[in-house]
Amino acid sequence: MPDLFIDGEWRAALDGRTREIRCPADGSLVGVVDEADGKDTAEAIAAARRAFDEGPWPHTPAQARGDLLLRVADLLLRDKEELARAESLDTGKRLVESTCDIDDVANCFRYFGRLVASETGRVVDTGRADVDSRVVYEPVGVCGLITPWNYPLLQTAWKVAPALAAGATFVLKPSELTPHTALHLLRLLTEAGLPPGAGNLVLGAGPQVGAPLADHPDVDLLSFTGGLETGRRLMAAAAGTVKKVALELGGKNPNIVFADAGFDAAVDMALTAVFLHSGQVCSAGARLLVEDSLHDRFVDELVRRARAIRLGGPFDEQARTGPLISAAHRDKVERYVARGLAQGAVLRCGGARPDRPDLADGFYYLPTVLDECSAGMSVVREESFGPVLTVERFTSEDEALRLAGDTVYGLAGAVWTSDEARAARVAARLRLGTVWINDYHSYVPQAEWGGFRQSGFGRELGPAGLAEYRETKHIWRNTRPTPQGWFD
Ligand code: NAD
Repeated sequence: MPDLFIDGEWRAALDGRTREIRCPADGSLVGVVDEADGKDTAEAIAAARRAFDEGPWPHTPAQARGDLLLRVADLLLRDKEELARAESLDTGKRLVESTCDIDDVANCFRYFGRLVASETGRVVDTGRADVDSRVVYEPVGVCGLITPWNYPLLQTAWKVAPALAAGATFVLKPSELTPHTALHLLRLLTEAGLPPGAGNLVLGAGPQVGAPLADHPDVDLLSFTGGLETGRRLMAAAAGTVKKVALELGGKNPNIVFADAGFDAAVDMALTAVFLHSGQVCSAGARLLVEDSLHDRFVDELVRRARAIRLGGPFDEQARTGPLISAAHRDKVERYVARGLAQGAVLRCGGARPDRPDLADGFYYLPTVLDECSAGMSVVREESFGPVLTVERFTSEDEALRLAGDTVYGLAGAVWTSDEARAARVAARLRLGTVWINDYHSYVPQAEWGGFRQSGFGRELGPAGLAEYRETKHIWRNTRPTPQGWFD
């Protein structure tokens, strides 16, 4: 079956090109998919436009749209095993993690399915008896949705579910490296009853297939999750048609540990914060800021445990984390580590590829701890997006906050302390979209997700995640029109 989904039909690419998808864990061939270009994207945009301007979806009652999303949630759970397997083969991540991801995907659809019917407009009190004034929400129009490879279906769900809940139509472009679960989702949307053209899928490279979504006049909103440089480029391209833009970009997230933190939980979660999915998480706690008096004990224990992390492919039940997404990405991580060492960081563990022969065909990199880092180092400032933890010391709360804020990013971070007043003070002063206190990585679809500063703007999840896909309209009805005589 062909892999592009346009106007309710599965189609091959117009020029017949395809792309091989290989598993990063061992290089094995996962599949061959159709590879779109700008012409296919233009057709997908036209289909989404027609579906919005002439089709039933934008006018389907909110309750019925919500019901469709709830059906999709059920179908996702029905196909959970197949989806999790596909996600693991595309990304190389452990099956247990992909399985959790699919649960989260279903929860996201369920959340927006329930939210949409309750998020109605409001009546405005104008103070005039002859006026009926209402604020209503309408779907934003055609949405261009561009997603990354680290949480392929989850990042897609964070956009597709609220877009459909709002009554918008979309063209989705997933990462060219990890397309398979997006294909499956489009099949489920059709099975759940989404009308033709309301959801379209194009596969292919960013500059060819994603870029037209940013500058096309028929796309009303661009929602992008990915790297900072790509985000900058897309934002500039979107300016030409003044479309709404939402950007979920990277992070260089501080994990701040005070000496009075609960030691065992803080060490354990510092590992999870940075090494989950081999650090390929936008909110990865890749910058450990640890109070000087705790530093030696904390880092010794962290390094001891990091050395013991077993790497392996998706189906190795002993493995605790997997490969990087590609050879090019591993090269980039290696360059960051080399630069950090050249700039004075101290290598405490990792810093190399594993020497196990069974991992030789995958893009593995050992969990790495770089100690004695400072804020000027590129490995501290920039997102390596790999299993690399940098450690900095601080001696006061103010210094911890200064170091944490010394970055262009503002996505997420954590503070570990048993002092509740301090936790509240630090959480209030951190310029981050998400702050965890004595925790890391937890989230629920009811709470907004997004960045401050150059981590982007706009929010996914929560009521604001639905609002992204809506326009707000004020309707003013004069119930007793009479001449005002302004020009008498
Ligand atoms: P990327 O920017 O390279 O690619 C993201 C998507 O954009 C892909 O689909 C890609 O094909 C597309 N793209 C690339 N160049 C393009 C162009 N010129 N025009 C249009 N589309 C283009 O990012 P990535 O490497 O896939 O993902 C990793 C990045 O995503 C990291 O920086 C990570 O922090 C970020 N991320 C952020 C969040 C968040 O919620 N803030 C979540 C996940 C990932």
